[in-house]
Order: sequence, then C-alpha cells, then structure tokens
Amino acid sequence: MNSPVFPILTWHSVNVHSHDYAGNDLLAFELDIDTLNRRGWTITSLEDALDRLARGELQPRTAVLTADDGCLLDWEDFDHPNLGRQGNLQKILADFRARHIASARHRVHLSAFVIASPQARKELDQTDYQGLGLWPDHWWHAANQSGLISIENHSWDHNHGSLARTVQKDNRRGDFRWIASESECRAEIDQASDFIEHQSGRRPRFFAYPYGQSSDYLRDEYLPRFGADIGLRAALSCEPEPVTTSSNPWLLPRFVCGRDWNSPDAFEQLLADLER
Ligand SMILES: [Zn+2]
Repeated sequence: MNSPVFPILTWHSVNVHSHDYAGNDLLAFELDIDTLNRRGWTITSLEDALDRLARGELQPRTAVLTADDGCLLDWEDFDHPNLGRQGNLQKILADFRARHIASARHRVHLSAFVIASPQARKELDQTDYQGLGLWPDHWWHAANQSGLISIENHSWDHNHGSLARTVQKDNRRGDFRWIASESECRAEIDQASDFIEHQSGRRPRFFAYPYGQSSDYLRDEYLPRFGADIGLRAALSCEPEPVTTSSNPWLLPRFVCGRDWNSPDAFEQLLADLER
C-alpha cells in the first residue's frame, strides 16, 4: 500500500491481571514493539508522524505508540500484591531503543495520556485498584525530560463512572459524551492542560478522549475553536482505523490493545491488513 497512512496504537499499563499476553498489557507491549520491528515497521512520535504525513514524507509501515490513563507502570517497576514484580513501559522502550540504536530507524517514543486531577486519581486508586498507589504524578516531569515519553492530556477526571463527583454539571458520569458545554469542556480540558503543564514542565500537545467518546460540541465546536489556544494540535478517539491525510485532527483514530487485538497472532494480522 503506497497511500500515506499510519496507525496509532494504544495500551493501558494498568491492565495487569495475569502473567499472559491477554491479561497483561506490559507483556503485550514488549512483544508488540518487537513484532513491529521484525515486520519492518518504524516507530516514531505522534508529532513526527503527523508532520511527515502533512509534508507527504511519511514512510510506509510507520506506527505511533500511546498509553492511556497514566498509571505508575508507564514509568516505574511495581510490586504487584498478587502477581509480583512488574516492569514498566519506560524500561521496555529504553531496552528496545538500546537494541536498535545502531540502525537509526526508530524514533522510539510513547505519548502517555494522563488523568490530571490528583483527587480523581486518588479516588480511582481506592475504588478500582485496591488503594495500591498506582496514580502518582511525581514521574511526569522526568518522563518529559527523558525524550522517551511525553505526558499528554486525558482530561481532568475522565468523567469516570467510579468517582462520586465529576465536573459534569449534573454529575452524570461514566460517559464522556456528557461533557457538552463550554464550562464543562474548560473544566475537563483547559484545567487538565494547566495542571499537567505545572506538574510536568511541558504543556500537552494532544488530548485523548476518555473512553474514546466525544460530544458533538466538544469535537466539532469547542476544540476546533479553542484547541490551538489551549496548546493542542489534535485529539484522539478510539475508532479502529489508521490516520490518513483526510483524518479530522480533532478525531484521530486509534487501535486499542485488548479490544482491537488480544494475542500476538491478532496483532500480526492487524499489521498484515495495514501492510496491504
Ligand atoms: Zn482512559
């Protein structure tokens, strides 16, 4: 296939439930980036892939890596109470980069979309993750300094269904399409970018819609009108398609591990379909 397209691929490092691929996104991520390399794909940053696509210089078989929800396993090893010591995405990326540095083929990079609100992260940790302390933000600044991981915006509180209260005006939670007025968008997006910039030293360039969902207002009016002022270049959904020159920058598609592939064979098949 010669038409310029690239897939954005997504993992969730908090998905650690077992020692096998289907139940452990860290294992899946490590195998998947090796599969990309073996099949002749090039890994690069989202910024670089979009620049190359716009200039008509995108190489075939280019892929972009992203991770959602911003848990500690993006960055540090973690002693899981049931599963033992777990690695982290940063270490996997650094090892991969070291193995392939001589070829200069890859610009190894991951965009990590984090939940900004400290209160929301603390509450989610208690309600959904046994109070394991999985959502600190002390690592954000170091991640941005690393050149391997950029901290991006995954909203203020995800309008998450497990929280007692979100910024949604009627406290309707569990679906991001209910963020549909200017004041709610400011609270979910601007406030998150402000906080992330303060904590991490860099203003986010990209926003990932929680649950992949967006209201018509947020996607078609708010972000096209205010996105650049907020510092944003694009927003990411979870439609399982590659990015093309005609993709809406406020609705870039993505493939998600666990939903769009759940085994090494399924990932090979996904890539084979994109290689055609
Ligand atoms: Zn999320």
